[in-house]
Amino acid sequence: PQETEENLRSPICCIMGHVDTGKTKLLDCIRGTNVQEGEAGGITQRIGATYFPADNIRERTKELKADAKLKVPGLLVVDTPGHESFTNLRSRGSGLCDIAILVVDIMHGLEPQTIESLNLLKMRNTEFIVALNKVDRLYGWKVCRNSPIQKAMKQQSKDVKNEFSMRLTQLYYNNREMGETFSIVPTSAISGEGIPDLLLLLVHWTQNNVLEVKVVEGHGTTIDVVLVNGVLHEGDQIVVCGMQGPIVTTIRALLTQHPMKELRVKGTYLHHKQIKAAQGIKIAAQGLEHAIAGTGLYVVGADDELEDIKEASMEDMKSVLSRIDKSGEGVYVQASTLGPLEALLEFLKSPAVNIAVSGIGIGPVHKKDVMKASVMLEKKKEYATILAFDVKVNPEARELADDMGVKIFITDVIYHLFDQFKAHIDNLKE
Ligand code: GDP
Ligand code: MG
Repeated sequence: PQETEENLRSPICCIMGHVDTGKTKLLDCIRGTNVQEGEAGGITQRIGATYFPADNIRERTKELKADAKLKVPGLLVVDTPGHESFTNLRSRGSGLCDIAILVVDIMHGLEPQTIESLNLLKMRNTEFIVALNKVDRLYGWKVCRNSPIQKAMKQQSKDVKNEFSMRLTQLYYNNREMGETFSIVPTSAISGEGIPDLLLLLVHWTQNNVLEVKVVEGHGTTIDVVLVNGVLHEGDQIVVCGMQGPIVTTIRALLTQHPMKELRVKGTYLHHKQIKAAQGIKIAAQGLEHAIAGTGLYVVGADDELEDIKEASMEDMKSVLSRIDKSGEGVYVQASTLGPLEALLEFLKSPAVNIAVSGIGIGPVHKKDVMKASVMLEKKKEYATILAFDVKVNPEARELADDMGVKIFITDVIYHLFDQFKAHIDNLKE
């Protein structure tokens, strides 16, 4: 069918870049919220998704008088984490998007993860727009709140303009691969200059490109999913990846949050009979308790073989299970969802860390996890340890661990786990 206004889906945009360039703040600025200050150490550790309805984009860009004929129903923006050990999560983020915003701190220029993000984007042939952020930090910057960037630039002194050109030129000299043109939008996530331009560029670009991506990413217990393509209906049969194998179930309720709020921020929900991509959705269905967060969700169509889909649904788990040490000796690792679990396993495997893993768990630490970790007490005492990232420990599990002598280290910043574990080993040696 021809793509008319009604059947264009919302494009998905992901935000990438080095840590502290202002990715989360930029989203906060567009949304008018403050997620950034609520994060552990200001670091984004889950994939959050925000839906911006067309009306909001129209309002934010009206000063540009672009006569923005918005054909898309809205824009779904996915924020991705910035720390090194999150390569995996980041590649998930960029894998499902139509276009990306690469955030660069104008004061710092190209940084290691800027380059890594660039490589990921190239690898996946994803178009992107560069947001040259923190322009308000140029010495003497005159704030023009939420103003289009050209208008704001006109207000600046000669010195500010000079410093800006100098930093922009430096970025250009540092770009060794020339021959391609990129859109660069100077922005401030604090005072909002350039945000209208950024939004308009995003929408214009995506409207002129065919949108086709097929990934649905799930996490949570009633499961939160990012619907990337197609339509979901109440009553659809779905398959998700579970700890004990594929879970086949039927959608009982399709829920979304009010627009503009992030999925991971708690709130009240709107019910739908059907939902069109792209959207962040909450799905209620029986048997989802054991669904593994961060894996794909599959809808069983009329012509599909259920067995094929069951097999496909378990693909994501394969890479995780292959990380478990064949010797059977190692620590027990636990995280809230599959993405962070993969990131944590990746981190533990890195040469500088190199900690063997014998078992994995997803979700809060329960007694059964402590039991599994306790097997190591006999084999290698220092491995009778649970390294837990961003999860809660159930009080009974804590009590059991204390009784049995199983150590639980818990943190919401991955690289702290190494320090804790190392101190623990040194302690045992003494
Ligand atoms: P992320 O790691 O890329 O998500 O970066 P954050 O959004 O957490 O921002 C990192 C720090 O930079 C925070 O202290 C922000 O307040 C600050 N920041 C972000 N954007 C801007 C900006 O445009 N101007 C200024 N002056 N500070 C900013
Ligand atoms: Mg962030």
